[in-house]
Amino acid sequence: MLKDKLAKVFNEPGCSHNQEKSEKERKRGCSAKSLTPGAAAGGCAFDGAKIALQPITDAAHLVHGPIACEGNSWDSRNSASSGPTLYRTGFTTDLGELDIIHGGEKKLYRAIKEIVHERHPPAVFVYVTCVTALIGDDVEAVCRAASERLGTPVIPVNAPGFAGSKNLGNKLAGEALLDHVIGTLEPETTTPFDINVLGEYNVAGELWQVQPLFARLGIRILAPITGDARYHQVAAAHRARVNMVVCSQALVSLARQMQERWEIPYFEGSFYGIADTSMSLRTLARLLISRGAPADLLERTEALIAEEEARAFAALAPYRERLAGKRVLLYTGGVKSWSVVSALHEIGMVIVGTSVRKSTDEDKERIRELMGEDAPMVDQIPAKQMYKMLSDGEADILMSGGRTQFVALKTKTPWLDINQERHHAYAGYDGMIELVRRIDGELNNPVWPEIRRPAPWDAAFGSAGEAEPVAAEMHA
Ligand code: SF4
Repeated sequence: MLKDKLAKVFNEPGCSHNQEKSEKERKRGCSAKSLTPGAAAGGCAFDGAKIALQPITDAAHLVHGPIACEGNSWDSRNSASSGPTLYRTGFTTDLGELDIIHGGEKKLYRAIKEIVHERHPPAVFVYVTCVTALIGDDVEAVCRAASERLGTPVIPVNAPGFAGSKNLGNKLAGEALLDHVIGTLEPETTTPFDINVLGEYNVAGELWQVQPLFARLGIRILAPITGDARYHQVAAAHRARVNMVVCSQALVSLARQMQERWEIPYFEGSFYGIADTSMSLRTLARLLISRGAPADLLERTEALIAEEEARAFAALAPYRERLAGKRVLLYTGGVKSWSVVSALHEIGMVIVGTSVRKSTDEDKERIRELMGEDAPMVDQIPAKQMYKMLSDGEADILMSGGRTQFVALKTKTPWLDINQERHHAYAGYDGMIELVRRIDGELNNPVWPEIRRPAPWDAAFGSAGEAEPVAAEMHA
């Protein structure tokens, strides 16, 4: 069954890059490289599925497997909620050796029952992990039985870690939504301005940076999929007029299948950078008009864009001079490897390298579109090599996740967190201003000249080597 699902998601007609591949290449999937045992930590398919679904804030997310799997993914993304907090509770069946021998189905059913009785969630998502897939637990059957007996939707998410990469897990999460959630409820009301936003997880509150723009245009997000979502919103998402897939190929299969089933047109857009935000708003307005929204929506959108762009450019003007020409090493992965590139180009920064270690072929194609065939794409950079690059001054700032921050700090290079754990939101016009303000704050922080000066004890003797006579004197 999983095999069929994998074959289906790898054969995505909505993905133009995928269609250009040969049959053999398509079977290999979209991962940057095939997985090797032990190499999946922090980025397995289960992890990807959990990342994509956990932002449904009022649902319970139960991991069926050993506790280490839940520990691997729990709270690993800083997706913010405007209300419910149940998604922040880590639920796991915590399988041990005896469960592995005797099977974990009964334990799973008991866990679901306990969650439903104690916490009364609108739904429970159950995540299959490597161990429960290998021992052959019939998670789908347990979920079906639990849904019927307990009267609460229990959704199996069949994305065990060994199935593939994090990106594949995102796609499998989309399949779970299609198979079990979307279309199961009706919205209370509908309007010609209803949209879904797919692949936006409200990291550090980024969805909230673009929501006011929509509100000013009268556009309603029927379902955010899944940042700050409520279960009933996602279940009623099939009544939206347009789907916007944010910055990612990850949920394009979901968008394409929603178009097939419910005739909802979709487009891919980004909220990183001024030009991309404006382009996304324009496309959204055009598509909504084609689906029955009043024609003046486009006019109002253009007026909003003109006003917001003028405000954003005025706010960015003082930074442009300070940042233009500064060199950035962008060591992230996946969609951010290219979506942030266009935002940095807007203020004239130079990308000396953008990491593609977790990027799909589609992500790499986007980088080439933005930076040309000679785009400085870098793969995994060993810590030693990165240390050398930064000590040699090849970049003025490193933008990466928390794990590489220490390499930057050891070389006394400014560093900015760009990954999912970050606490600052960078979407839309306000997000772009915030990003530039943060980069400037890092680059021009007075701490750098201070710590780059020789230490007073070294300065007193000219160099560290000249301290030897002192040591000799002390021992005399
Ligand atoms: S699902 Fe598999 S690869 Fe992922 S964390 Fe659990 S054991 Fe590791």
